[in-house]
Amino acid sequence: MKLYEFEAKGILARYGVSVPRGVVVEKGEDVRGKLVSSGLTPPLVVKSQVLVAGRGKAGGVRIAKSLDEAVSLVELLFDYPIKGLKPRYVLVEEAVEHSVELYASIAIDRSARKPVVLASLYGGVDIEEIARERPESIIRYHVDPYTGLRGFEARFIAKKLGLKGGLMQSFASLLQSMYDAFIDYDAELVEVNPLTIVGDRVVALDARIIVDDNASYKHPELAVERIEGGEVSEWESKARRLGLAFVELDGYVGVLGNGAGLTMTSMDLVYEYGGIPANFLDIGGGASAERVKKAVLLLLEFPKAKSIFINIFGGITRCDEVARGIVEALREYGGKPKPIFVRLSGTREEEGRRILEEAGIRAFDNPVDAVIEAIKAAR
Ligand code: GDP
Ligand code: MN
Repeated sequence: MKLYEFEAKGILARYGVSVPRGVVVEKGEDVRGKLVSSGLTPPLVVKSQVLVAGRGKAGGVRIAKSLDEAVSLVELLFDYPIKGLKPRYVLVEEAVEHSVELYASIAIDRSARKPVVLASLYGGVDIEEIARERPESIIRYHVDPYTGLRGFEARFIAKKLGLKGGLMQSFASLLQSMYDAFIDYDAELVEVNPLTIVGDRVVALDARIIVDDNASYKHPELAVERIEGGEVSEWESKARRLGLAFVELDGYVGVLGNGAGLTMTSMDLVYEYGGIPANFLDIGGGASAERVKKAVLLLLEFPKAKSIFINIFGGITRCDEVARGIVEALREYGGKPKPIFVRLSGTREEEGRRILEEAGIRAFDNPVDAVIEAIKAAR
């Protein structure tokens, strides 16, 4: 779950990070009233709150020299799509005069099984290029999750960047604050880019936090409605609302399996026999007929899927529940049904087979036979 910049800054500020003074305006609010009562003094930075990267380059960050200009920029940004998304919130902050832009982040390094701190003197909107062209200018430091990021380690990183005195201290405490937030919020990423220097203190001009979706239940205070656009397609967000694990792909054979491993194997089978999957859709273990129905209906409606390959290996998943779900989906679906090829094996297979055959659907033993038919039908 990606947090908005204003949420991330709010969290970091509570952990002692300096952030510019600012106010959040929600769509439909009285912009001028809100800005006047905020007491912010121009010049101001007006920032579209969208959950996509590269917002600055896409025109989502503007500078206003006066309050009037800020008001019209806020109104402009509400109507200005960034990678197809219009914001619900716009953040207005006091602009910080600055000449340097640093970078700091903490993420999980899966191969090292540890959090990793990345820090650089050369942050800003071109950090990806810097990472490619001058990787040596980025310091990487793995943190032992049992001890956390200790003071001397944070200072070591700051010194390695060449920072000294109060500034070095300020950067080190920033890293420790980021690390504490990273742990407390079960984050996958805490990033400050850019970070600038005012006197001998660092100030966060931007902040990003991504919370592990599996831990979001621990943070009910973050449950604002968020539009995670850009990376998520219309069909993926529809599936998400239904509680289904669905990824849209470029092919034409709809794929549905129980369990991520079997579903990926099913996609491999489609490729192996010369087809291209239209999607990944995993109904998980022990799915009820109701859940199967929703999943099959989604694929019946999903225009890229010209045929549907359903691959079920029943363990805790019962083949009869799956069969009932498929039959109900076809009954409920209004349009011309697509050809469906089902491989059923395992728990209550006989019963499942009977239910499908009564509805005129052939149940395959061998997934290869089913996939070959599904590819043929899609073409
Ligand atoms: P991003 O593109 O989504 O990462 O947006 P950022 O919040 O990082 O803003 C992009 C760029 O806008 C930054 O690299 C800065 O150069 C500039 N910017 C952001 N905040 C301020 C600010 O308070 N003052 C000034 N002068 N520039 C800012
Ligand atoms: Mn940024």
